Amino acid sequence: MTEMTMEKKKISVIVPCYNEEETLQAFYRETTKVLNTMEEITYELMFVDDGSADCTLEILRGLSEEDSRCHYISFSRNFGKEAGMYAGLKESTGDYCVIMDADLQHPPTLLPQMYRAVHEEGYDCCGGKRCGRDGDGILRSIFSRAFYHVSKGLTHMDMSDGYGDFRMMNRTMVEAILNMQEYNRYMKGIYSFVGFRTKWIEFQNVERQQGVSKWSIKSLFSYAMEGILAFSTTPLKLAGATGILLVMGAILYLIVSLVICGVKAQAVSGFSVLLSVVLLLAGVQMLFLYIIGAYLSKDYMENKKRPLYIVREER
Ligand code: UDP
Ligand code: MG
Repeated sequence: MTEMTMEKKKISVIVPCYNEEETLQAFYRETTKVLNTMEEITYELMFVDDGSADCTLEILRGLSEEDSRCHYISFSRNFGKEAGMYAGLKESTGDYCVIMDADLQHPPTLLPQMYRAVHEEGYDCCGGKRCGRDGDGILRSIFSRAFYHVSKGLTHMDMSDGYGDFRMMNRTMVEAILNMQEYNRYMKGIYSFVGFRTKWIEFQNVERQQGVSKWSIKSLFSYAMEGILAFSTTPLKLAGATGILLVMGAILYLIVSLVICGVKAQAVSGFSVLLSVVLLLAGVQMLFLYIIGAYLSKDYMENKKRPLYIVREER
């Protein structure tokens, strides 16, 4: 009821930018056009120049001079989008934060709907779920789909295709994300880890307006590996299954050799005995590797110092 007399809520738009000189003006124009129609809010644009080599920084300086709602942080070199998003969230002051790509692949027209979801409908987060991959190459689409399949199985976290960084979050969720202090950051996993009530709005994938995607197949692959390694220790324990297979193989082989020799009334050959012993030893080694992996994985996760729980609400 006191809603009307209360202060306007502030939205911080966080924009990681790496060599985006061609798109920034259009991004600014389109995004502020939508934000200006939302009379119930104030806003700030928090650009993060991720060590761009082009005129990105000059453009950001210009924008912040013309418009006091524009701010920027400029990195000393390229640290990657993850670092950009972290810095942007950390410096932002809004009641709600929304992360957007600079290339207009995240339609600003979704912002009013997102705001309604987090402000009125009781959600902590409202994300844009991208449908289709029109702007992406075939190879990249296949690769991405395969990765999301594997990573879902390995990490037991909901990191499905299409659920990206384009999302508006309330302060509580932003603080929870900032409290995840791990160095190897993988935001898709972090969103899933911190939880909170999230609403999804579908939008059609479009090609980036100008410039080129900053991702090569190589960087996508290492990003994918990062995601799996940061949230799963299953690979460390793969030796376990191999060890069990080898030990069982050794025992089975010995039994079969003994039975055959028994039927034929012959002595077991030295080769058969040697082979089972070798298989057995290899299997035992694998099992010990598994044990080392198991301890290592505990230590690895411990080192991340992730919160034991995250509070959504209290009185
Ligand atoms: N980006 C960044 N640092 C990087 C790579 C990308 O800040 O090292 C930014 C980029 O400027 C853009 C967003 O992250 O605003 C998404 O990048 P891009 O459009 O290249 O990725 P794609 O849409 O192809 O996934
Ligand atoms: Mg893009």
